[in-house]
Amino acid sequence: AKEQRQGAFVVYDSSMQQPLDERVMIEKYLRTAIANNELYLNYQPIIDLESGNVWGFEALIRWNNPVLGFVSPLSFIQIAEDCRLILPIGEWVLITACHFMKYMHRQGFENYHISVNISVVQLMHEGFTDMVLDVLEETGLDPSFLEIEVTESVVMDSFEATVAKLEFLKTKGIQIALDDFGTGYSSLSYLKQLPIHTLKIDKSFVDGIIDTLDHLSLVDSIVSIGHDLGMKVTAEGVETGDQVAFLQNCKCDKIQGYYFNAPMAEEKVLTWLSEWNEHSRN
Ligand code: C2E
Ligand code: CA
Ligand code: CA
Ligand code: CA
Repeated sequence: AKEQRQGAFVVYDSSMQQPLDERVMIEKYLRTAIANNELYLNYQPIIDLESGNVWGFEALIRWNNPVLGFVSPLSFIQIAEDCRLILPIGEWVLITACHFMKYMHRQGFENYHISVNISVVQLMHEGFTDMVLDVLEETGLDPSFLEIEVTESVVMDSFEATVAKLEFLKTKGIQIALDDFGTGYSSLSYLKQLPIHTLKIDKSFVDGIIDTLDHLSLVDSIVSIGHDLGMKVTAEGVETGDQVAFLQNCKCDKIQGYYFNAPMAEEKVLTWLSEWNEHSRN
């Protein structure tokens, strides 16, 4: 299905051309989305497979506009990148996510991480590393609890400059994940040079688990490659117990997906986490 109805607004996946007037509308309303408090974050748990403990949460942006209704990030992130609105929006995401994690730590839910998606436009922006360090200082979150997720295309676009920025953030204690891994075109020799802590296997490969033997061995290989390079491996979009069992078998480190929980509202996180910890103790 290339198209799904969500709220009052038609959501297209990224492979489909958006009609021009729709892009124009999205851009128009996006300009005032932060000021009008229309943006918020959902949080999806990331589970450590070996211990069964919650490692942390990925922050995922949500937009509810009075005219457009709920608009999926798949529909507006690209537009936000094209008109560079992703710079203030991305900064807002980082501040909000770090604030939230610091709040959790203060509530006694310590040692949980927050993972934040970073767009290519943000990473290329000259002020990016300073912005990240400022946000950490402002929110008081220890850098070791922040993971940033960048995609392969981001890194390949201007390899040396990007690697230098990521290296710098790594020396500050921030963790780096390579998102949507397997969908891009990075070669193994590039991968080796990247200051990456974690590979996130894209959902499209996880979907193939059980269905086709091809994907089965691919997932297994990605995990092995990651480990050989000294990286951790996370699988996203895990929906079934069979997938969990397979990923456990091939020693994937962390998993994330509807099987455990869909991304949830901020207000639900503490209750969910308390229940999870209660269950794993019993
Ligand atoms: P992503 O980074 O690959 O995030 C994973 C997407 O898969 C999320 O969609 C999540 O809700 C969804 N998902 C998680 N588990 C499952 C599952 O078991 N089954 C299925 N079918 N889906 C699952 P979402 O929230 O709609 O976000 C879509 C994309 O938008 C993200 O893909 C990311 O590339 C982008 N995005 C989201 N939030 C941000 C943000 O704050 N900044 C930037 N730059 N991009 C963002
Ligand atoms: Ca992600
Ligand atoms: Ca993905
Ligand atoms: Ca992504």
